[in-house]
Amino acid sequence: MTDFHDPGAAMAFDFSTLAVRAGQQRSQFNEHAEALYLTSSFVFDSAAQAAARFSGAETGNVYSRFSNPTVSMLQDRLAALEGAEACITTASGMSAILTTLLALLQSGDHIVASQSIFGSTQQLLGNILPKLGITTHFVADTDAAAFQAALQANTKLIFIETPSNPLMSVFDIAALAKIAHDHGALLAVDNCFCTPALQQPLALGADLVIHSATKYLDGQGRILGGAVCSNKTLGEEIFKFLRTTGATLSAFNAWIILKGLETLELRMRAQSDTALKLAQWLAAQPQVARVYYPGLADHPQHTLASRQQSAYGAILSFDVHGGRAAAWQVVDHCRLISITANLGDTKSTITHPASTTHGRISPEARAASGITEGLLRIAVGLESLRDLQADLLRGLSLSAV
Ligand SMILES: *Cc1c(COP(=O)(O)O)cnc(C)c1O
Repeated sequence: MTDFHDPGAAMAFDFSTLAVRAGQQRSQFNEHAEALYLTSSFVFDSAAQAAARFSGAETGNVYSRFSNPTVSMLQDRLAALEGAEACITTASGMSAILTTLLALLQSGDHIVASQSIFGSTQQLLGNILPKLGITTHFVADTDAAAFQAALQANTKLIFIETPSNPLMSVFDIAALAKIAHDHGALLAVDNCFCTPALQQPLALGADLVIHSATKYLDGQGRILGGAVCSNKTLGEEIFKFLRTTGATLSAFNAWIILKGLETLELRMRAQSDTALKLAQWLAAQPQVARVYYPGLADHPQHTLASRQQSAYGAILSFDVHGGRAAAWQVVDHCRLISITANLGDTKSTITHPASTTHGRISPEARAASGITEGLLRIAVGLESLRDLQADLLRGLSLSAV
């Protein structure tokens, strides 16, 4: 399998092939499935080899905070899927974001970020990094020109998430990459919602692709993990920071994600397909005021999403008439769809953003960003369309039309 270790060779294979084969390295036992190496450290043959490994004169594993064969297999496989030269995995999606930003930025640097990003990312950029002298301007608009206008002399990075949570706004990766590069800055894209199965930001010009592997990469709601994919130079900077600061992914979690990647494309296609049909069905229900899904022709960035993504993803939001009471009625009558804020699972989940994920935002700011009291978000899993419709209809049908 050493062919798959060579990035040049990996390029020749299709996505579905890379998803099950890339990065695999076999031990002396010649196991067929990828092995799980649960060991904190590695033994050297001699004092001279120990010295060579420590000095970097010889490559090889030393200690699992630095590298581990199972983790390396995952990093190589994910790099192949994102079309990246390098992938560094981390303990969670948030640690991937923190590690990347602290490795590449310093006090005095400025970030331009989209307002509609994951809540913890917003907290990190807005409240934690300023303590270290790294400040962020948040852009409320989806328009690339709004990002251009927010650039300062010290702006080093643009950070976006596309599609974004919970209204599925889509941002133009190629246009933002050009704006960043013309300014000498980097573009980082949180690719959590699409995964490389549906969208490959590096091919569109992004410099960094960040993942919460907790979501679709594992895909079955079992573990936490994160990753950042980039070119070799950025990857080396991030790795140097990670191996010292230690937000490393465990070998066990790496092994779970590695096996999760094998079904990634099948899951993303099937879940996106059901999401599109569910979005179309919801749009036709009299109790539903509006559906937010990039696959619907009335979505403001439908054309951009069609160009930038190969499918529209498995997450959709919809606004019910009757505000919070009507929305909670739908949630409370779900017997199948799980009431949980997580997403990216084969089991469908439902969330009321205004009272959970976006509950800390002021009601005024929430209203301004379109997160109404009647808004519900569904992350569509692998259940049948018919069963999902029946589950939602139970609560919906109790509302007066
Ligand atoms: C969940 C999530 C994160 C954070 O990932 P964790 O693994 O929970 O740390 C970041 N970005 C997006 C878009 C997410 O959905």
